[in-house]
Formats: sequence, structure tokens, C-alpha cells
Amino acid sequence: QAKNSGRNSYAFYTQALTERARRQLALESNLHQALAQQQLRVYYQPLIELHSGRLSGFEALVRWQHPELGMVAPDEFLPVAQRAGLMGLIDEYVLSQACRQMRTWLDAGYQLGTMAVNMSGYWLERGQVLGSVEQALHEAGLAADYLELEVTESEIMQHGEQCIELLDALRQRGVRLSIDDFGTGYSSLLRLKRLPVNKLKIDRGFIVDLPGDSNDSAIARAIIALAQSLQLQVTAEGIETEAQQTLLRELGCDIGQGYFFSRPLPAQQLQGLLQGTRIEA
Ligand code: C2E
Ligand code: MG
Ligand code: MG
Ligand code: MG
Repeated sequence: QAKNSGRNSYAFYTQALTERARRQLALESNLHQALAQQQLRVYYQPLIELHSGRLSGFEALVRWQHPELGMVAPDEFLPVAQRAGLMGLIDEYVLSQACRQMRTWLDAGYQLGTMAVNMSGYWLERGQVLGSVEQALHEAGLAADYLELEVTESEIMQHGEQCIELLDALRQRGVRLSIDDFGTGYSSLLRLKRLPVNKLKIDRGFIVDLPGDSNDSAIARAIIALAQSLQLQVTAEGIETEAQQTLLRELGCDIGQGYFFSRPLPAQQLQGLLQGTRIEA
């Protein structure tokens, strides 16, 4: 009996694996087409200044509008893109779209701080990122300090000295840099001190159980204090409740991002939120 159920769960397990593998294969073989046929969409999630409630900017987040599977999330298809060697193309696409969108909003008279774009480790490994950034800014007619590039803490730690040089070059060019998913990548304080970054983004994992979890609130407090003493701005990701927002504001966190304010949305659905930022002529 036990043996039998063991075998069944094994069969179930391999079947689930096969289905997952099959889906990944399908995604992989469709991804070239997705790029060519412009099935990738860029959504934008607002970032809010916690002390004033004002819009501070947006983060650009990629989605794949798959003709049969519907909307596919980045956590599912970016690893596939990575293996297929398409990560650089996707990052470049999102960067150029995001810069153009920022230009469109600025031209419409909206007062916006920054547009944040995620940068994969793959990109960091290659020198070409500087050229791509230059080109995207040029094509959109955008000043460099409107652009913020996010790199995760663990990717920075994996890519070493070469990565620091590249970040230095981007910073010299006037682009802003933030460390994404901060608190999950085991960076040494020595290393952190040397990074040419402007901002830390506290990982959602430390926010989700606030305000009840005393360990997490101690961690959030410590990261905010660390950021302040290094004169970095600090953003909390994944704010879903008013209580989380209130606590983080009280702890001195500068910026908030999360479903409490807005989910990531297509540009045309953000008009309402943008209206409040317009300077009347
Ligand atoms: P990330 O850069 O840390 O982005 C934040 C993620 O948290 C986004 O997921 C966002 O939708 C989600 N999020 C924001 N607020 C909340 C909240 O209140 N609750 C919950 N549960 N989630 C929230 P998304 O869009 O699925 O992206 C996942 C990850 O994929 C991103 O994490 C980033 O690492 C990567 N990614 C997304 N777009 C791109 C891209 O264009 N290029 C690269 N290289 N990576 C990207
Ligand atoms: Mg990010
Ligand atoms: Mg993050
Ligand atoms: Mg993440």
C-alpha cells in the first residue's frame, strides 16, 4: 500500500515536472517570435514619497502577452530568456520603451522624478550596457538623471569588481542606481560602502509580515538606518496595507511601492494618477 502510494506520488511528481518542462520549452521556442512580433508589454508601477504622498516615479516591469497562454509573468519567462540568450534583447527593449514613455509623459506636462528599469546580471557581464543606455537616452531625448537602473544585491555580489567598474561608469554618466531586493544578497558592509549607488530597495520579504512581525520590523528599521547613515535613499517594496505604509513612514522610509498604492499597469491606465502631478500653465 505504502509502496503503491509512493509510486503514485512519484508518477505525479514526474508528470508535473514534465508539464513544467514542456511549458518552458514552448515558452523558449516562442520567445524569439514574441520579440519579433512585439508581444512583450511594459507595465509601470508608481513609486510614492511616503512623507508627502506624492508620485516619485515609476518602475518599468516586463510582461509577455502570449497568444495562447495569456499574460506570462517575468519570473516565469526571464529564466527561459536567460537560457536562450535573449536576456540582453529584452532588457534593451524594456529600457528603450521606458525611456520613450517617460519622454511622452514629460512632454504632456507631468512632473515626474525617475523611471526605474531593471538590469539583469547578464547585462552587467557585458560592456554593451553603457552603449545601450546612451542610445536609449539619446533616442528619447531624456536627461540621464531621469533614469534609474535597478540591480539586485545578489547579482552585484556575483559579478564582482567588473560590475563595480560598470556601475561607476553609469553613475559618472549621470544615471541613478539602486540595489534591488536588498537584504537577500548577503553583501558585506565594506562592499556596500564602495558601491556607487543612490538607493536601497528593501525586499518585499521583509515587508509582507509588517507591522506584526517584530523581527521584520527590526530588520526594516536597521536597513533604513543603514541607508540613512550612508546617505542613500530607501524604498520599501511590496506595501499592501495602510498599516505597513504608516509604520514604514514612521521608520523614516523615503519611498513606497506596492499594491496598496497601485499594481503595475499599462501606461494608458495611469492617466488618473498622473493628472495630479501636472503643472497648470
Ligand atoms: P522586482 O524588480 O523586485 O519588481 C518588483 C516585483 O514585485 C514586481 O513583480 C511587482 O509586480 C511585484 N510587486 C510590487 N508590489 C507588490 C505588492 O504589493 N505585492 C506583491 N505580492 N507583489 C508586488 P513582477 O513584475 O512579476 O517582476 C518580478 C521580477 O522580475 C522583478 O522583481 C525583476 O527582478 C524581474 N523583472 C521584471 N521586469 C524586468 C525587466 O524588464 N528586466 C529584468 N532584467 N528583470 C525584470
Ligand atoms: Mg526592480
Ligand atoms: Mg525587488
Ligand atoms: Mg525581485
